[in-house]
Parts: sequence; C-alpha cells; structure tokens
Amino acid sequence: MITGPSGVGKGTLIRGLLQRCPGVQLSVSATTRAPREGEVNGRDYHFLTEEQFATRVERGEFVEHAEYAGNRYGTLRSELERPAEGIVLEIDLQGARQVRETLPGATQVFIAPPSVEDLEARLRGRASDSPDQIARRLDAAPTELAAKEEFSKIVVNDDLDTALGELVELAARICGPDSRDLS
Ligand code: ADP
Ligand code: 5GP
Repeated sequence: MITGPSGVGKGTLIRGLLQRCPGVQLSVSATTRAPREGEVNGRDYHFLTEEQFATRVERGEFVEHAEYAGNRYGTLRSELERPAEGIVLEIDLQGARQVRETLPGATQVFIAPPSVEDLEARLRGRASDSPDQIARRLDAAPTELAAKEEFSKIVVNDDLDTALGELVELAARICGPDSRDLS
C-alpha cells in the first residue's frame, strides 16, 4: 500500500510502477469525490454518490474506508480479488492504519516530499483542485508527514526516476528480472 500527502506524487509513481511491472494491478478505490477532468469511472475510481457509498459500507463491502478533505474514499473487497501477482493500494493515513490491522502482511510505503514547499508547489501546479480543496489537503499534510515513521519504507519523491526505481525495487519479487526497463 502506498500512502503520502496529497500532491506528493503517489499517482504519478503508481502509473510508472504499473508500466514497469505488468504483474502489478491497481486496486481501484471508491469515492464520493466528483471526477476530475479526464478521470474515468471504473479506471481511476469507482465514483459513487453518498448514498451508494453508505449502502456499500453497511453491506460490509469495504476492506477500509475513510473521510478525507470532505469526501469518502474506500477499498472494495472485490478489488483485492483481482487475478494479479501484486495489488497496489493508494490510500490515506487512516486507511493505511486500518489495512495494517486487517492485512498485516502488506508492504507499507510512505511517499514523502523533499520539502513542504515542494508539496505545496506540486499541489498548486497540478491545478486540478479548487482553492478550498487545496487548502484542506495542505491542512492534512502535517499530520500525515508526522506519521511517516509508522511505515516500513519511506520513499522521498525528489527526483522522480530515483523514487520510481526505489518503488520498483520494493516490488522486485513481483516485477522480477523481466520488469520493463523504460529508461
Ligand atoms: P498525488 O497522487 O500524491 O496527489 P500526483 O501524482 O497527482 O500526486 O502529483 C502531483 C503533481 O506533482 C503532478 O502535477 C505531478 O506531475 C507532480 N510531480 C510528481 N512527482 C514529481 C517529482 N518527483 N518532481 C516534480 N513534480 C512531481
Ligand atoms: P484524490 O482526491 O487526490 O484522488 O485522493 C485524496 C486522498 O485520498 C489521497 O490521500 C489518497 O491516497 C486517498 N485515497 C484514495 N483512495 C483511497 C482509498 O481507497 N481509501 C483511503 N482510505 N484513501 C484513499
């Protein structure tokens, strides 16, 4: 599982990992957040209404779920049944703490920014969230950063290729010697 503050580069790194390691699949999360431009339902997220999300919680369909920056996010059990050699979960700190209890064997990676200034610049530079959403995400960052030592592996996403190399290394058992070297 991969955790880290919003804007640190989790999505970018995961896209790189999926390209390099064809045996790895992404667990597509469910969320009540509205789709961003270009996001596709079922590929980027399962976009649900508040009501649909609540019904699925009641039915026990989530491995973990949390509220983040005013929206709900969760991992559906069905996503972990994907026929893959490895499954990567992108989840927030609250979700990571739940998964640590329910799936103690999961590799726990925290992606850290080189500095808080870089994080803010990336979040603003991505230009995908409203000013209110950016503020809420920056508000959450100190708590998330303070928890990084809970994770078995911390990857600092300064140079993207270096950070991706560290992630691929962690997934080496799954990527194997056949991992696609795209450099
Ligand atoms: P997250 O999924 O953690 O919210 P994203 O993957 O969307 O973050 O990345 C946020 C922004 O930072 C994007 O515009 C992305 O292109 C940029 N970014 C990601 N990694 C780096 C890096 N190593 N150096 C500079 N910019 C980066
Ligand atoms: P975003 O809205 O930028 O796509 O995601 C916001 C936050 O929600 C990120 O920190 C991301 O890791 C987290 N997130 C995405 N999917 C899940 C999930 O399934 N469960 C939990 N707990 N958090 C998630």
